[in-house]
Order: sequence, then structure tokens, then C-alpha cells
Amino acid sequence: MTTIYGPVPSRRLGLSLGIDPIPLKTCNWNCVYCQLGRSTPLVNERREWIPTAAIMAELAAVLANAPPDSIDWITFVGSGEPTLHSGLGEMMRQVKQMTALPVGLITNGALFYRPEVRRDVLAADAIMPTLSAGSAELHHLLHRHHPDVSFACHVAGLIALRREFTGQLWLELMLIAGMNDTVAALTDIARIVAQIKPDEIHITLPTRPPAETWVAPPEEEALMQATAILGEVARVVHPLVGTFQLAVNGDLCAAIADLVQRHPLSEAQVDALLAAHSAESLAVVKQRCLDSGRIRCIERFRITFWIAAAAHYPNTLHSERTRPVTLEMQGGA
Ligand code: SF4
Repeated sequence: MTTIYGPVPSRRLGLSLGIDPIPLKTCNWNCVYCQLGRSTPLVNERREWIPTAAIMAELAAVLANAPPDSIDWITFVGSGEPTLHSGLGEMMRQVKQMTALPVGLITNGALFYRPEVRRDVLAADAIMPTLSAGSAELHHLLHRHHPDVSFACHVAGLIALRREFTGQLWLELMLIAGMNDTVAALTDIARIVAQIKPDEIHITLPTRPPAETWVAPPEEEALMQATAILGEVARVVHPLVGTFQLAVNGDLCAAIADLVQRHPLSEAQVDALLAAHSAESLAVVKQRCLDSGRIRCIERFRITFWIAAAAHYPNTLHSERTRPVTLEMQGGA
């Protein structure tokens, strides 16, 4: 398993090279919309989950081999909550010494109430914490968080971070139909935003496979309502359908498995990637990837997604399959 992946195309960050310092679904939240499935069990322990030196050595090797202009940002993000890695501050300092590229952090922000966690992230150029609820009740319903990371701590942590952090603070609001897209919920969120004073609010939508089958994106009208209530700092960030780059240092299926563990892909995206990296029949190489045991398929929004086989997606639809491809389906080998 690698800890560096991508670069993946991002509307906000261009080509973003991901650093994933956390094992799959190591998280203190269990968001209903999580694209990595459920967090079982919830984890709120901060420790060196993967050796810091190994992660940095892998990053140095990737950067040394990266073609010019192939990376716009280096982003801590991945299979769980990156602030749960106790070496995050050291890694941020080392990345800054290795490269002049800007460094981002995508986080739920739940641990920013702790001063040492805020200190660890001050070297970042942009921090993107979650704020999808403006009340303790909704926060719990959406994020099903560990009991030690309350809504009050979350808000206090974000306010404190804003005071100490001089880079860009972009709050991420995942908008879910029927949960936080009502006038009351958005008004609550706007009240909290006014205390935090972020540089921007990025409204995102559940377009990748959510943990729970009932999660759905809001109507267009609700999006307009959200931007109206949250004001000028808010904008909707639609996912970018771009071309993924895949660093294949050996087995193509292992590289695909590493990517979908952090970033589930639609079957169409998988087809494009495999076609770009393999001269073999698409059906044959897809079957080999699925037979590797590291990947499986689920359906959400009537789209088939490739996800990590180890991810917990309860209530997967009965059409879930592990071997979706037959040679006949693909028109023969
Ligand atoms: S969306 Fe992020 S914070 Fe929520 S459960 Fe998934 S990894 Fe954790």
C-alpha cells in the first residue's frame, strides 16, 4: 500500500498530489455521506499510524520523478482523518523544505480544539475543514461523531484556528437533501460561519458513493438558497471530471486499488484509466483487478463505483457485485 496517490484533478486545487497518512477509515466521525463507507469502529486516538519517515521517503521519490508542471498542490487527505496522525506537524515542515508547491489539508476539523493540533497545521497554505451543521443535533445526525469530539469543541476549534492560522481557511459544507438544506439549518450554519470568519465556504455535494444509500444531493433551488443565506464567501464547488494520472510502478491493478481506496471511481473513470495504461483488452484487465481481492463494486445514484474491498458499506444494494465484467459484456476479448 502506498501513502502517496494521484495527482487527482480538483476544481479548487488543480492537480493535487495526495498524502494519505492514515489507514482506511481511521476516523473520529462516521459521516452519512462518507465516500469511504462507514467508520467501524470510531477512532479518536492520535498516533503515528504509519511511520512518518516512510511517508516522507515515498513523497520524495514521487516528487523526484514527477514531470514538470504535473502537480499544483500537495494535499494531506485520504483514507481517514489526517489530523489523527501525530506526525502531521513534522510532515508539514518536511514537505515545505522539500518543495515550493503549496500545501493543503482536507480535514473534518474535529481536533482543532486541541492547541497542539492547531500548531501542527500552521505551516499549511490552505486548510479545508468541514462545517456542515450549525447545531449539535444536526452535527450528530450527519457526522455520528466520537463522543470525545463534540459540536461545541468543533466550533471552538475552528474559531481558535482562524485566529492563529494566517493561510486560507476554506470551510467545506456538504449539502444533503432533507438534512442541512433547509432555511433553518442553513441559518444556523450562517450564524456559526459569522463567528469563524473563513476566507471562503465551499458547498459540495454527495456525488461519490455515500456510506448510506438514502443520502442524496439537494435540488438546484436549495443550492441557490444556500448561497443566498451564506453570503458572498460561499460558492458551489462541483466535482471536476478530469483525467486522472496514475503512477504505475509495477502492477496496474495495485495502482487502481490504491487510488479507489482514497477516491472511489465510477466505472467509466476506471475504463478510461485502464485504457490509458494498458494495451490489454479492457474486459480482461478489469477482471484481473476485481480478482485481486482489493476492489469491489457498489451502486449509488444508479452508477457503478469501484471502491476498496475492505470498505464498510452496509445496506449495499442487492445489485452489488464483485465481478461485473464478462468478456461478452465488453464485446469479447
Ligand atoms: S467524510 Fe471525512 S470526516 Fe466524515 S467519516 Fe469520512 S473520512 Fe471521516
